[in-house]
Amino acid sequence: MAKMRAMVVRGRGGPLVAEERDIPVPGPEELRVRVEACGVCHSDTVTVQQLFPFIQYPRIPGHEVVGVVDALGAGVKGFKVGERVGVGWFGGACGYCGHCRRDAGFACENIHEVTGVSRDGGYATHMIALASSVAHFPDDLDPIESAPLLCAGVTTFNALRHTGAGPGDIVAVHGVGGLGHLGIQYAARQGFRTGAVNRGGDKEELARKLGASDFIDTEKQDAAKALTEMGGARAILATVTNSEAMQAIAGGLGANGIMMVIGVGGPLTLNPIDLITKSAGIRGWYSGVARDSEDALQFSRRNKVASMNEIYPLEKAQEAYERMLSGKARFRVVLKMDA
Ligand SMILES: [Zn+2]
Ligand SMILES: [Zn+2]
Repeated sequence: MAKMRAMVVRGRGGPLVAEERDIPVPGPEELRVRVEACGVCHSDTVTVQQLFPFIQYPRIPGHEVVGVVDALGAGVKGFKVGERVGVGWFGGACGYCGHCRRDAGFACENIHEVTGVSRDGGYATHMIALASSVAHFPDDLDPIESAPLLCAGVTTFNALRHTGAGPGDIVAVHGVGGLGHLGIQYAARQGFRTGAVNRGGDKEELARKLGASDFIDTEKQDAAKALTEMGGARAILATVTNSEAMQAIAGGLGANGIMMVIGVGGPLTLNPIDLITKSAGIRGWYSGVARDSEDALQFSRRNKVASMNEIYPLEKAQEAYERMLSGKARFRVVLKMDA
């Protein structure tokens, strides 16, 4: 029987261990992907550290997956063997429950799957996905370099397009890192006056090259004050993992401003006055469903949004994971299956 290779977490805390397994057969409504590349995301710590109590081991992490469909299970419609696809954090939805019918399939009442968390993900040469979780991938987008668009990309793209900001409005991207370097590109190309906010000036040149028209160095400036002086942010995309830094910038929201929280830190304390006096708000944003990924991929293709990556072979997944954790990668880490 043909075998697949995978990097597996066997117990809480890891490490990632190489395994050879039989190639699985897709069940009803599932398809099998021959994986070409998988991004290494900070949210993979959820799987490695068992941050959700329902996680069972052994588990293959990975939710920034690009590959080619190589088998279809019973009942799958709309996908062909040989087609390139992507799979993100979203693990699938039933399509008929109350949430699905109200366009909130990410919160499906029947299917509670997360790729690489509750089911095996893309740190492998092959994976099985529910067809409802799978995005069509554009032919002329690089499958390896674009893997991070399936999580970091769709998350920033989708959060930004739901802020209510319009062309010319001030949108601050807080943090120039794995999420932020994509967020700046999307914000600029979605037509916003894009301000990059970062601790230290070393990333200013890059941030401007990516499309930022303004740069705020929080070591030299109070970000809330600087944004207020610009007129107040219509939206802040909070990508950092430091809650105190998020608190410190919230005062820079302008009238009806929204802070979109997509970075995960500790509990967040905010001054209600900052919200009330401006009718401002704070909300989290779920990455996106398969259709959102398709929108992000197509937008990236048309508008030349690209992830900056460091590429590792699958077998070096542990090293790649540690590199991601170090925060030093420029900017995303990607596993390439045949490297
Ligand atoms: Zn992710
Ligand atoms: Zn549903």
